[in-house]
Amino acid sequence: MTDADVLFTEARTLDAADPLAHHLAAFADAPGVTAYLDGNSLGRPLRDVPEKAAAFIRDDWGTRLIRSWDEQWMELPMRLGDRIARVTLGAAAGQTIVADSTSVMLYKLIRAGVAARPGRDEIVIEAGNFPTDRFIAAGVANETGMTVRWVQPDELTGVSADDVASVVSERTALVVLSHVDYRSGALADMPSITRVVKDAGALMLWDLCHSVGAVPMHLDDWGVDMAVGCTYKYLNGGPGSPAFAYLAAEHHGDVLQPIHGWWGAADIFAMGPEYAPVAGIRQLLSGTPPVLSMLAMQGMLDLIEAEGITAVRAKSITLTDFAVRAYDALLAPLGVRLLSTRSAAHRGGHITIGHDAFQRVTQELWADGVIPDFRFPDGIRLGLSPLSTSHEETLRGILAVRDALQR
Ligand SMILES: *Cc1c(COP(=O)(O)O)cnc(C)c1O
Repeated sequence: MTDADVLFTEARTLDAADPLAHHLAAFADAPGVTAYLDGNSLGRPLRDVPEKAAAFIRDDWGTRLIRSWDEQWMELPMRLGDRIARVTLGAAAGQTIVADSTSVMLYKLIRAGVAARPGRDEIVIEAGNFPTDRFIAAGVANETGMTVRWVQPDELTGVSADDVASVVSERTALVVLSHVDYRSGALADMPSITRVVKDAGALMLWDLCHSVGAVPMHLDDWGVDMAVGCTYKYLNGGPGSPAFAYLAAEHHGDVLQPIHGWWGAADIFAMGPEYAPVAGIRQLLSGTPPVLSMLAMQGMLDLIEAEGITAVRAKSITLTDFAVRAYDALLAPLGVRLLSTRSAAHRGGHITIGHDAFQRVTQELWADGVIPDFRFPDGIRLGLSPLSTSHEETLRGILAVRDALQR
């Protein structure tokens, strides 16, 4: 038996024992795609999304017309936020909303955070954080005359509490970090880091784009101040579906976002002369929410809620552990580097591998219906969305990488 045969046997055994395997069929077919390993960038649609979208357009919009605002849509950003909070964030109701893009929501929360810490003049952010996070933090620093202080963590293991402790001080207003590093998949120790930041008197803002829906969290228990995340990655909300934002109840009323639209006003329909912020989480809203784009994520939340995020995480770990074993057997001998930690406890839902030929390899794989994610200049991310990905599919993808490298 070849290494590949042994791994196929293992993959089939793991799939047969996978308590979540029956959900694979809930996702829409993608003709011609034999391995979709990019669920961390754009989750697949559930099979019933077209039907639900058609019903929404026919009934909620087409028939109920503007009455639907009163009947259900006005409250949707808060109701859906509460669901995300309960199912994935470990947060009580009334602290999470769905709106805007992650980038816009980052601006609102970073700007609000620094305004809530007057006299402090530094924003701490990781040098390797996702570009939009760095750009927006630097933009707010420019706008407010503050300084960005960079954390430079180990690339493989990600940012640690010690890294953060070495840069925060009485000058720090706000710390912005990703829970799961978008490149290496490194999982940050959210409770310890949050404690370090709060002990310094600063506010902690977590970016959850690459962890929400894959890694369990307890934002309330861990004392997190603010968080923001995408819904089109592991929550399968579809391209451009809106972000969610969490603001701990203790900050309502004194952490105020800067885009003063009518949806964040105390009385939306008062049409008064001046803006007065509402006391609750709705203050994070600015304008009319994208109701149609909030549809697809609801089915995914149903699935995660039915199984529980702990079970989803357990599957995620068997997938990434298996991917590392397949890497060892099939790709390491070809000079491919592992750019993620081997420790499942310190890793999110994806692993990254590196090779100089990966730009060419990715182009060939995409043309063949094997779809990983390319990260310039030489990284391939294998994003293994737990509910929609099997071990066998993961192996097909890794074998395709091997075959393309050998061509
Ligand atoms: C995907 C991602 C974003 C994307 O932000 P958008 O405004 O939705 O484009 C931001 N931050 C991180 C860490 C991400 O992974």
